[in-house]
Amino acid sequence: MPEVREHELVIVGGGAAGLTAGIYAVRYGLDLVLLTIGGPGGQTATATTIENFPGFPEGITGAELIARLTEQAERFGVSFESAEVERIEREGERWRLCCDDLDYLCTAVILAVGASPRRLKIPGERDLFGRGVSYCATCDGFFYRDETVAVIGGGNTAIEEALYLSGIAEKVYVVHRRDELRADDILAERAFAAENVQFVWDSVPTEIRGDHAVTSVVLHNNKTAEDSELAVSGVFVAIGYEPNTGFLGDLLELRDGFIVTDERMRTSQPGVFAAGDVRDTPLRQVATAVGDAAIAADSAYHYISERR
Ligand code: NAP
Repeated sequence: MPEVREHELVIVGGGAAGLTAGIYAVRYGLDLVLLTIGGPGGQTATATTIENFPGFPEGITGAELIARLTEQAERFGVSFESAEVERIEREGERWRLCCDDLDYLCTAVILAVGASPRRLKIPGERDLFGRGVSYCATCDGFFYRDETVAVIGGGNTAIEEALYLSGIAEKVYVVHRRDELRADDILAERAFAAENVQFVWDSVPTEIRGDHAVTSVVLHNNKTAEDSELAVSGVFVAIGYEPNTGFLGDLLELRDGFIVTDERMRTSQPGVFAAGDVRDTPLRQVATAVGDAAIAADSAYHYISERR
């Protein structure tokens, strides 16, 4: 039998949403633990500069924001444990969170497990990951000083990554499958104005090549049906995110893989709440994630109080 730890609340996920839920819940006096796989972070930690989080007129790096949230959570007494939840099961009136060699029993759960970068699923992507293929310009951009790189995607992430890389690499191609960006105008205009950023429109990568490290990416033009090869030493994939809901099986109602909640962040199961990017929501931002998390913690507090 695995070791069982009991708490009133378990928060799963240590990104901006999980940390905020922890800060609120511990201040409500709940007995809780916050589970992360590799320590606090999440997608926020990989953001270069967050310019639209209120209160930071000069912007703040994702890493700095996470460090501050973690410090704040620790100051109020949130306890962190490292564990990957593999399954969630109902056990009487409580929930059992099954991890590798340890289970957690709790009255309520807040799922703040976020989303992971979407993969291109093309030849070379997996083999050359870490050897030219990256999903995080802030993490890996440093290695491409004065080199030529490609960013794949046309959303805010892709354009932010392209702008960040333009300050390091000699040349940055942005490869987008349409001829119009999805990114906000303010970011798009900056990228259009950057001398070393060049757009490759209507194109999708079909293969990433290189023996030991990336040397090129093969592109297919959707309009002309022509294939071409772009010589690059780095390929930064920024084509959106997929929710980390695989471990839930059919426990909760999902929409396109994201957890459906009501305005109190209640999921389809009693005592299970969700917050942040994993939630079915019209806007995935740090500002909305922390708002979700505050509501989720408040809902969990009321749910637990009624059962004490
Ligand atoms: P996103 O907005 O979903 O954009 C994904 C981009 O990748 C789109 O341009 C999409 O093309 C393209 N794409 C998707 N699948 C593809 C495929 N298989 N092959 C080629 N291209 C593909 O994702 P995101 O940019 O990561 O942003 C996620 C969320 O975070 C958004 O809500 C975004 O606004 C937010 N965000 C905000 C900021 C900010 O406010 N500063 C910064 C970063 C992220 P189509 O355009 O043709 O669909």
